[in-house]
Amino acid sequence: MSRPFELDALFRPLTALPGVGPKNAKLFEKLIGGPKILDLLFHLPVDFVDRRFSPPISDAPNGRIATMEVSVVSHAPNARKGMPYRVKVRDDSGTMTLVFFHANNAWVEKQLPDRETRIISGKVEYYQGNAQIVHPDIATVADRETLESIEPIYPLTAGVTNKTVRKAMDGALDCVPKLGEWLEPTYKAREKWHDWHEAIEAVHLPESESELLPEHRFRQRIAYDELLANQLTLALVRHRQRRIDGRSYKGDGRLRDKLRALLPFDLTGAQEKSLGEIDADMGEDAKMLRLLQGDVGAGKTVVAAMAMLNAVETGAQAAIMAPTEILARQHAESLKPWLDACGVRFVTLTGRDKGAGREVILDQIRNGAAQVIIGTHAIFQDGVDFADLGLAVIDEQHRFGVHQRLMLSGKGRGTDVLVMTATPIPRTLTLTAYGDMDVSKLDEKPAGRKPIETLLVSNDKLDSMIDGVGRKIKDGSRVYWVCPLVEDSEILDLAAAEERYDILKEHFGKVGLVHGRMKPAEKDEVMQRFAAGELNILVATTVIEVGVNVPEATVMVIEHAERFGLSQLHQLRGRVGRGGEQSYCFLVYAGPLGATAKERLSIMRETEDGFLIAEKDLELRGGGDILGVKQSGLPRFRLADLNVHGELLAAARDDAQLIISRDPDLESDRGKALKVLLYLFERDQAIQYLRSG
Ligand code: ADP
Ligand code: MG
Repeated sequence: MSRPFELDALFRPLTALPGVGPKNAKLFEKLIGGPKILDLLFHLPVDFVDRRFSPPISDAPNGRIATMEVSVVSHAPNARKGMPYRVKVRDDSGTMTLVFFHANNAWVEKQLPDRETRIISGKVEYYQGNAQIVHPDIATVADRETLESIEPIYPLTAGVTNKTVRKAMDGALDCVPKLGEWLEPTYKAREKWHDWHEAIEAVHLPESESELLPEHRFRQRIAYDELLANQLTLALVRHRQRRIDGRSYKGDGRLRDKLRALLPFDLTGAQEKSLGEIDADMGEDAKMLRLLQGDVGAGKTVVAAMAMLNAVETGAQAAIMAPTEILARQHAESLKPWLDACGVRFVTLTGRDKGAGREVILDQIRNGAAQVIIGTHAIFQDGVDFADLGLAVIDEQHRFGVHQRLMLSGKGRGTDVLVMTATPIPRTLTLTAYGDMDVSKLDEKPAGRKPIETLLVSNDKLDSMIDGVGRKIKDGSRVYWVCPLVEDSEILDLAAAEERYDILKEHFGKVGLVHGRMKPAEKDEVMQRFAAGELNILVATTVIEVGVNVPEATVMVIEHAERFGLSQLHQLRGRVGRGGEQSYCFLVYAGPLGATAKERLSIMRETEDGFLIAEKDLELRGGGDILGVKQSGLPRFRLADLNVHGELLAAARDDAQLIISRDPDLESDRGKALKVLLYLFERDQAIQYLRSG
């Protein structure tokens, strides 16, 4: 099944709409976050102007938007440059002035011919006792409805006016098809929800303040649709993975015992508990789909290693996939001593392996010579065949999505999956990203870690801080120095980072710089030199990879800390405090700080608990970009707002589970409608899944 034809109109490009041409299409696209008509329909108004108010001129109240039928009395073109063009108009009750700055005289004359009747609309103001409207909207009597209406107000961007958005939106609304109902009828009736096409139209024609709120039933319905598509996708993936026969992996423990004997530390209670849960899952015939959640530094790697050894003990292969080259190499480095000591053969495979070298690696994966495979997503691409993949560990570091998990499906029969994440995700967000995946938590830090001392430093104290950092370096510390990126101006940011680099280099000599514009290989090289101790200071824009492990680094300096999300600060801070030494985190801010900003940064000083920080962040921001979701790779919703629609999410999850248990291939009438829903939210991967049976 390919996309149902009734959705075709919604998937056409924006340029098919009135007022959108090749010139402004890019601006539109940036504004609404997508190139299609459907994206525009998901761009919801934030306010509205009621233009239905139509008083006589003499009664028009100051400051209110009014729409009036008037006849044109006289024109007074601008006498001098810089003076406005004025037009006097009247109705039976009195006269008023229409004012145009920088007017094109011919245009005004054409719009408002002498003695003709016109409908005008705009905000009434009084100037020297006379009513006037600056730059009114104008329509002919025949077109009066275009003005005497409610005008929704949309979020805008430079170069796109509300008028253009409305014009395009009118065209978009004409494209909205009637679709088969995918909602469960009793639930829909109980919530008093409308049909989808009615709800979409209604949200674009708000008639009261309450209709602008996410709690309103028009908006609830479309939010629910989005959440249902999300939950249904996850439920399908899970169901499908369960349906493929799993295998039982019960190793005899010989390799794991070796590793335990080797470790210079005891596993924490949380690590033992998680391992127990993983062992139990792997021992069952059903496929494992488990999330291992643990804050930075909680010790996920060793848990993954134990799980992989379990698979290897049974004669199967295990793979671990990291989101970036650097992280993959880091994993290889951490795992190497352990795997070597256990006599386990491993290979690494990343996008950088090419040609003959790559062929050798692929052979070893294919013939089973490689028992453990460490790499990036290159591991799961076409052309990589496994002899017998028993366990896939996905180190998400919050960057992969559902579809990467789907790629796995083709690679092994009965492959167990363990996903690792360091994002301290609140419960609601876990649901959106992982559905009802089983969760193991590392909620206990390894013993012997000293708390990181976090200090807030005002920008103007930077010099004395640099001196302090110098003393730390003399004592053998290594220092991360983060200069933030502001999305809009990569170049300026880069300049700031380079300037800082120059200054620090002058002071300390052994300083490196990494930034987003460098090639991965160049970045790698600098990071390696920092890890090896050839560099004392690593200056970075925010590209410091979340997972890098340099235990000797004990100082983290973050400039413009006030620009970061708390969870981001937390992740960055987690780069230090990994060894036995006392570590420090300096949050440098450009003052003066507002009350909220102060409170946010203070939280960082008070706690190292990622969950607490995430929740506080959510609380203080009151919505918006939760957790810096933008950076996190967690699903982003356009219509649903999880701060408000948490209950809808829970309902959508239950709904999705019920649907899958009753109609796993979506073949009933409702099932068919649900397929359309999946297409509507571009969950094409989920549909592919259905197709492949
Ligand atoms: P993350 O969960 O961020 O991936 P890592 O697995 O990289 O954390 O572990 C961070 C550091 O803690 C590593 O140097 C690791 O060897 C060490 N570590 C892991 N478990 C323990 C433990 N139980 N006791 C002491 N140190 C540990
Ligand atoms: Mg890690």
